[in-house]
Amino acid sequence: MKNSTYIGRYAPSPSGRLHLGNILSSMLAWLDARRNDGRLIFRLEDLDPQRSYAQYADLMAEDLRWLGLDWDAGWQPGGDVSFTQGARTPLYEDAFSLLSGRDLVYPCYCSRAQRLAASAPHTGDDADTGCRCRHLSAGERQALERSGRRPAWKVRVPDRTVTFTDGHYGRITEDLAASGDFIIRRSDGLFAYQLAVSVDDADMGITNVVRARDLISSAARQIWLISELGGTPPAYCHTPLLTAPDGRKLSKREGDLNMETLRERYTPEELTGVLAHMAGLRDTQESVSAHSLAEDFDWARVKTEDIVITI
Ligand code: GLU
Repeated sequence: MKNSTYIGRYAPSPSGRLHLGNILSSMLAWLDARRNDGRLIFRLEDLDPQRSYAQYADLMAEDLRWLGLDWDAGWQPGGDVSFTQGARTPLYEDAFSLLSGRDLVYPCYCSRAQRLAASAPHTGDDADTGCRCRHLSAGERQALERSGRRPAWKVRVPDRTVTFTDGHYGRITEDLAASGDFIIRRSDGLFAYQLAVSVDDADMGITNVVRARDLISSAARQIWLISELGGTPPAYCHTPLLTAPDGRKLSKREGDLNMETLRERYTPEELTGVLAHMAGLRDTQESVSAHSLAEDFDWARVKTEDIVITI
């Protein structure tokens, strides 16, 4: 029987083939959901059409299944588009209007490169880069508009801290004002990651987010935003990052150790064994199925420090 109170998710962006790090966080999301008899949703984060490719979406689903990682609802190749962010714009519009109605949104006229960078996940901290747009007078805004500048839209964060307990990294306190106001809509009209992910997690009733640690600094903003939108923030549990032997974070766009290569080299059980060993779940690399790992899955065994890939 499924535990109706646990709803987790996979939320990959189809910007490239899944790499070993994506697989590790997906596997941990699956193990956590299964250990809790929870349900898992597959949501396709194809927010940015310029970075989303249908063939990768199909391959992501196929790669997860190949590893024995399944889901209970959500996007399927050729299937239900209501689980794709590209089809959920009306929900983001509503959230944007709600925040605007509370005077929490203002136009930002800073350079396009800076705004676009800030709107993608994994770009690190888009903390205040000297942006003064929050304080522009109506006259200054009009002058910028007249000069043809199209603004992005930022949300005004309050001067307070958010504290939450990460399921793997413990108590985390973030100062919202220190990380700064952030972009919720780009100047080209596309909604930004922070808004879309918050709306979706709230709307889909996600109770448990398991994802890679490079998004840990976003959690406080998402907790705050979801609360502002009247939702209940999920519990967050971040997973260690895998790094290349030179210390570099793996990237889908770089094509790092992706599933195409991995599927040529390993069977699903061999790859699961290698990952389980790297993560700290098993003492050896012996082949194992995802289902067997779920039997004694315990976060206490999962490493917290970054893991240097050894294959
Ligand atoms: N779509 C993001 C990614 O592919 C993950 C977003 C999230 O888990 O909050 O990395």
